[in-house]
Amino acid sequence: MSNAAATDDPARWLESVAAEEPGRPLLETAERGVLSYGQALTLSRRLAASLASLQVAPGDRVVAQVEKSPEAIALYLACLHLGAIFVPLNTAYTFAELEYFLGDAAPTVAVVRPADREQVRQIAARCSVRHVETLDERGGGSLLQIEASSAPTNKRSHDPSALAALLYTSGTTGRSKGAMLTRANLASNALTLARAWRFTSKDVLLHALPIFHVHGLFVAINTVLASGSSMLFLPKFDADEVVRLLPRASVMMGVPTFYTRLLQHPGLSRERLGNIRLFVSGSAPLLAETHREFQARTGHAILERYGMSETLMNTSNPYEGDRIPGSVGPALPGVEVRIADPETGTPLSEPDVIGMIEVRGPNVFSGYWRMPEKTAAEFRQDGFFITGDLGKRDARGYVYIVGRGKDLIITGGYNVYPIEVELEIDALPGVVESAVIGVPHPDFGEGVTAVVVAKQGAALDETSIRGALERRLARFKLPKRIVVVDELPRNTMGKVQKSALRDRYRDLYR
Ligand code: AMP
Repeated sequence: MSNAAATDDPARWLESVAAEEPGRPLLETAERGVLSYGQALTLSRRLAASLASLQVAPGDRVVAQVEKSPEAIALYLACLHLGAIFVPLNTAYTFAELEYFLGDAAPTVAVVRPADREQVRQIAARCSVRHVETLDERGGGSLLQIEASSAPTNKRSHDPSALAALLYTSGTTGRSKGAMLTRANLASNALTLARAWRFTSKDVLLHALPIFHVHGLFVAINTVLASGSSMLFLPKFDADEVVRLLPRASVMMGVPTFYTRLLQHPGLSRERLGNIRLFVSGSAPLLAETHREFQARTGHAILERYGMSETLMNTSNPYEGDRIPGSVGPALPGVEVRIADPETGTPLSEPDVIGMIEVRGPNVFSGYWRMPEKTAAEFRQDGFFITGDLGKRDARGYVYIVGRGKDLIITGGYNVYPIEVELEIDALPGVVESAVIGVPHPDFGEGVTAVVVAKQGAALDETSIRGALERRLARFKLPKRIVVVDELPRNTMGKVQKSALRDRYRDLYR
C-alpha cells in the first residue's frame, strides 16, 4: 500500500495522494479520459465550496440520486471534506420512494439528475429540503455552476465517530432503514480490505458496479483511495466493454451475475487476463458451479467475500490459501463473527451448526437513522449485530451463508433451509438456477415451492425434477410445487428477489 494514503481518515486518502503525486490517475472513463488524484481533489473542493455556500454544515445530510460519474464520486469526497453525511440513493427509486427518503433523511441539499429537478423540487418543498441541485454524467449540472470561493475545513467534523454516510438498506421487508456509518467504519474497513487483498498504488481496478451501494462505493472506491490505486470506470456492466478492458486491469470486483455473464462471452480467455491478479465477488451468493467453471476457463479462483450496508465487509476468502467455492471465507482481521442461536443469541461454538450470523468490530455501523428501537432490537447486549443471515462455520473458521433468516421455510413444523433444496436442484442436468421459497399452504403453514430456470432446450418439467429430488431429499423438504420459468427476478445488485417470488406465488395452494 502507498504509505502516503494509509491514514485513518477517509478524507485524507485523496489529499495525501494528490500531494504526493497529483498526476496519478484516480479513474479513467471511455468518454472523458483520465481524472487524476490532483484533479479529483480540485473537483471535490469545488463541490465542497458549492455545498458550503448552500449552508451545508458538518452533520448535515446531502442526498444524491445521480448517474454514475466522476462528479458523483467527487460529491462523496466533498461531503467527507466538509463532514457532511453522504446519502446515495439507487437511481431506480421512483419519486414516491424519493419522497420517503427525503422525509426520513431530512437533507439540506438533494442532488439529482437534471431531468428530475422540477419534480424533485415539488417533493422537496413538502419535505422542507432547502435546495435541489443537479449533476449529470457529462460533467454538467447546477451544483458546478454555483459561484463559491472555497470550502471551510472544520477538522472537528473529521472526528472518527462522526457520521460519514447513511446507506438505505434494500428494504425487502418494511420500510428501508438508513444505516449510519461513521468515518471510522469506512476507514477501518477500507484499510483492512486493502491489506487483505494486497492492494498497492500499482493496481488498476475495473469498476463496473453502481456507486449508490456499499459494494461499488465503499468496498471498491474506498479501497482504491486508501491504497492510492486507479480505476477503469464504466457507467455500468457491459460484458463486451469489460472483456475489452480486462487486459488493462489488475483487479475486478463484481456481483455474481457479472461472472455468469462473462462466462457466456466468447472473448473471455486466459490470454486477456495476463494482468489480472484478483477477481472478487459479493453482494449475492456465487454458485459453487460458477466458481469452478470460471476457474477452469481462466485459471482464476474468484475470491468471495460477505458484507452488508450495516457492517461493510465481514468475511473474505483468503488472498493466499484456499478459496472455497460456496464459502464466504473466514472473518476479516479485526472483525468478530459468531454463529448464535437465533432466538436466544447464545453462541453456538460447535462447527457446522446453522444459526444466526452475528458480527462485532470497528466495521459495524452505529445504528439505524432515527430508529433507536429498531437499532436496539438488532444488537445483542454484548454489542454483536444480528445480521439476519443464517449460516454456519466449519472447523477452519470458513463461513457458509445458508440464507436470509426471513427466507427460512417452516413447513408442517419442520425447518427447511432453501439453500439445501436449491443446491440439489441446481445440480440436476438442464438446470441453470433455482430459488426455493415458502408460500402459504392450508395444511402445512408454508409449502416448499421451487422456481427453476432451465437451460435452453432442456426437457425439464415438474414431474422429472420431483422424480430426481425424491431420491436426494427428505420428504418434508421436497417441493410441493415446482414452477419452471425463464428467469428469476433480481435487483440491481444481482440479488434474487425472493419476496417478489413469494408475492407472485402466494395463491399457489389456495
Ligand atoms: P446489502 O446491504 O444490500 O449489501 O445486502 C447485504 C446482504 O447481501 C447480506 O445480508 C447477505 O444476505 C447478502 N450477501 C452479501 N454478500 C453475500 C455473499 N457473498 N453471499 C451470499 N449473500 C451475500
